Amino acid sequence: MEVQQVLHMNGGVGDTSYANNSVVQRTIITKEMHIVEDAILDLYCMSYPKKLSIADLGCSSGPNTLFVISHIIDTIEMKCCQLNHPLPEFQMFLNDLPGNDFNTLFSYLPDFYEKLKEEKHASLAQCFMAGVAGSFYGRLFPSKSLDFIHSSNSLHWLSQVPQGLQNEMGISLNKGNIYIAKTSPPSVFRAYLAQFQRDFYLFLKSRSEEVIGGGRMVLTVTGRGSLDPPECYSQWELMTQTLNDMVSQGVIEQEKVDSFNIPCYAPSIHELEAIVEIEGSFSLDRLEIIEFDIFTSGRNGAKCIRAVTESLLADQFGAVIMDDLFRIYEQKVDEHLSNKKVNHLALSMTRKG
Ligand code: SAH
Repeated sequence: MEVQQVLHMNGGVGDTSYANNSVVQRTIITKEMHIVEDAILDLYCMSYPKKLSIADLGCSSGPNTLFVISHIIDTIEMKCCQLNHPLPEFQMFLNDLPGNDFNTLFSYLPDFYEKLKEEKHASLAQCFMAGVAGSFYGRLFPSKSLDFIHSSNSLHWLSQVPQGLQNEMGISLNKGNIYIAKTSPPSVFRAYLAQFQRDFYLFLKSRSEEVIGGGRMVLTVTGRGSLDPPECYSQWELMTQTLNDMVSQGVIEQEKVDSFNIPCYAPSIHELEAIVEIEGSFSLDRLEIIEFDIFTSGRNGAKCIRAVTESLLADQFGAVIMDDLFRIYEQKVDEHLSNKKVNHLALSMTRKG
């Protein structure tokens, strides 16, 4: 499976769309907003620039990216009012993979601009938006062209399914599982970690070329607090159970489950810190754990996970079984609602030099 070609959050504005099922991600963004505010204010107050170039990486098609952007503008506007400075111009880049539903995202822009005009006078708030289609595991922008980068809920997606999840005979080492599980051999954990290390290193290296010296970057990633293998990343555990139930019912072939591994990884704090250190271009100013209850009901949980994973699951198991699959998944989330705390890690960094 070519992850970067297949992966996209559910587009449009319908019942199963990311736009309508991304409240969990919005909660995470709200909880990290104080870190974004501090970083953007630090940056602005360094030199009071007349123009700020800002990128949101992994913006998807829902309204969350515009929520972040309006918050950034509000924060700077408040500071400018205090200082009696004119508001800078904002160049905003919205990035995602080419399969992202940019059309739906762009359809929100007229209302967004209108609101800016009403709230801040058109002549004061000049915000220029552009979409950038491409993988953030590579260069997206010219050298030293960005002041600030934000990315939320995106960097746990790997660039590919890790290599090394099959032996030389092509037999799956992670049979019956779709992520690192209690029954997975240690080589599975090592393969996932190695892929994450490669990807996150490449992400930092690419951004280091694009961000000006002193520029800032705030990221949130699905993570874990401990060093242990992330075997209890429960939404994948429940998805594994769902798929195995469907194998028992004869709806899915066992081999399809054995050969499917989700291209996601939840790093520990230590793993993230180590890669930032080794890559060396950014100093890590802050790293905070955001802990929260992920789902309030099976229905919400199933809709959230469907909006995010349907493209990958439909590619492997067929689009026709998706309704049934998520009905079973919903029941499982309902049965396991308690004890579903999830950790996200928020990082704030400065480009050295
Ligand atoms: N930032 C938004 C959306 C997060 S969903 C929010 O917080 O709500 C994660 C997004 O990351 C998806 O739209 C997915 O397509 C995107 N993504 C995953 N891998 C990517 C890559 N390599 N390059 C760019 N975007 C990627």
